[in-house]
Amino acid sequence: MESEAICEVALSERLMQLRETIADLAVKYHRQPDEIRLLAVSKKHSVNNIRTAYHHGQTAFGENYVDEAEAKIKILQDLKIDWHYIGPIQSNKTRRIAEQFMWVHSIDRVKVAQRLNDQRPGHLPPLNVCIQVNIDLESTKSGALPEHALALVEAILLMPKLRLRGLMAVPRPRTVLNEQREPFARLRQLFERLKSVEPKLDTLSMGMSADIEAAIAEGTTMLRVGTALFGPRV
Ligand SMILES: *Cc1c(COP(=O)(O)O)cnc(C)c1O
Repeated sequence: MESEAICEVALSERLMQLRETIADLAVKYHRQPDEIRLLAVSKKHSVNNIRTAYHHGQTAFGENYVDEAEAKIKILQDLKIDWHYIGPIQSNKTRRIAEQFMWVHSIDRVKVAQRLNDQRPGHLPPLNVCIQVNIDLESTKSGALPEHALALVEAILLMPKLRLRGLMAVPRPRTVLNEQREPFARLRQLFERLKSVEPKLDTLSMGMSADIEAAIAEGTTMLRVGTALFGPRV
C-alpha cells in the first residue's frame, strides 16, 4: 500500500514538472503555451498510473497496441479519457481502432484511411487523424514518404468520417538539440505547404521524452510523452 502511495506522488510530481518544462520552453521559443498539448503515452503502463494522471488533470492518452489498449479502455470507461492510437496499423485491426479511439496519429496509406472511414460507427463523431510521415526516409520505418503526403491528404479530405488534423513523425534518434530540430523543421515545412491546400490542418504531432525542446522550438502542437512521465517501460 505504502509503496503505491509513494509512486502516485512521484507520478503527479513528474506530471507537474513536465507541464512546467513545457511552459518554460514555450516562453523560451515564443510559443503560446496553450497551443502545445500533452499526450501521455501509456503503452505498457498500468491502468492505475493512467488513473492517477487523469485525476491530476491529464485527459489525453496514447496507446500503440490494440489488444492492450482495448483492455485498458474497458477498465477505465468510467473516466472521460480521449484515447489516441499512435502505433502501426494492421488492416485487420482497423475496425477496433475506428470503434474505440478518438484520434489516430499513424495513417500512412490510403487503404488504411479508407477502412477507418468505412468502419467508423455512424453514432460517433468523425475520427481525428494525422498522417504519419517517414521524415528521415528510413527503409524500416512506417509512415508515408513526404512526396506521397499531398495525395494522401487529398484522399482523406474526401472521407466524411475522418477529420484530417495534421502530421505526425518519429525521427531517428539524435542526441544534440540542433540535430534533433532538423527533421522537425522539415516536417513543419511540409505541414505549412499542406496547409495551403487545407487551411484547417492544426496539428503537428511531434516530440517525445528525449526531444521535447527541439519539438517545441520547431512548432509542435502535440507532444507524445511516455518515459518522462511514467518512467521506463518494462
Ligand atoms: C512510445 C512512443 C512515444 C513515447 O515515447 P517516450 O520516449 O517514452 O516518450 C511517442 N510516440 C510514439 C509513436 C511511440 O511509439
